Amino acid sequence: MRDHQQETISRIKSLCRDHNAIILAHNYQPDIIQDLADFVGDSLELSVKAAALEEKTIVFCGVRFMAETAKILSPDKTVLLPNANAGCPMADMADAESLRRLKAMHPGAVTVCYVNSTAEVKTECDICCTSANAENIVKMIPPEREIIFLPDKNLGANVEKATGRKMILWPGFCPTHMRIVPEIIIQRKKEYPEAVLMVHPECVPAITAMADEVLSTGGMLRFARETAAKQIIVGTEIGLLHRLRRENPHKEFIPVSANAICANMKMISLHDVLNALENNETQINVPEEIRVKAKKPIIRMIEGKIDL
Ligand code: SF4
Repeated sequence: MRDHQQETISRIKSLCRDHNAIILAHNYQPDIIQDLADFVGDSLELSVKAAALEEKTIVFCGVRFMAETAKILSPDKTVLLPNANAGCPMADMADAESLRRLKAMHPGAVTVCYVNSTAEVKTECDICCTSANAENIVKMIPPEREIIFLPDKNLGANVEKATGRKMILWPGFCPTHMRIVPEIIIQRKKEYPEAVLMVHPECVPAITAMADEVLSTGGMLRFARETAAKQIIVGTEIGLLHRLRRENPHKEFIPVSANAICANMKMISLHDVLNALENNETQINVPEEIRVKAKKPIIRMIEGKIDL
């Protein structure tokens, strides 16, 4: 089995060289895909990286909206999503038509969308945000303007709490982070009384209220490196534990819940990556009209400027 796996990995590496391709993997990908990848990171970090790399083919091991974002920023590159079924249930909870209707009910509102949204939804938005910069983006918006925040009501509610700013929240959520419930936190804290608890802002506010730190995946990786704490309870998708453990071998990381698994993030296998490179599939394409419009809120976020 191991020999077969090794053979597949060697074949993938050789195809990458032949096709001038590079493999990017999200922090929630299966361990073996993270180990295979040239770069591991969060969705925006990877898309920005993809645009800066000279390779012409990007194999994006993540979910569809991430590969779309890479394509939006790198239209001249071939972006491959190794498993076409890997979508994001939260991104799919918002659609452009319903957003247009909501915007019509709130003329003048500024629309802030989490990067975890489809390209089409982004075309209707003024500025994007990530879980790391959502608070700062919202603080940039003049206080007299209404804000529509989508698609994650939990990230939105956590931003409301942190900034004191009321927003119109879209009713979407991440099913993976919704599986982290107060009872399980109480149990983990009892089991590890000395541990620090860090959670992702896609968790419900009742959970973030119980945490020592509320952090994006990038923030968690940084915090884990810098903290003096030796035991850390991790409240996010369990894929992040692989990198946390690899980068901090002398610290103990405890998953808050073994059920915090995103089935979509776990869809991509070694075989899928091999198939993607052998057959140049599944290619992610974004119609030019949508791409140009969707790029605007992403660039505004990256530049930290909102000229409304
Ligand atoms: S963890 Fe949640 S937000 Fe991330 S891809 Fe899975 S469902 Fe979407």
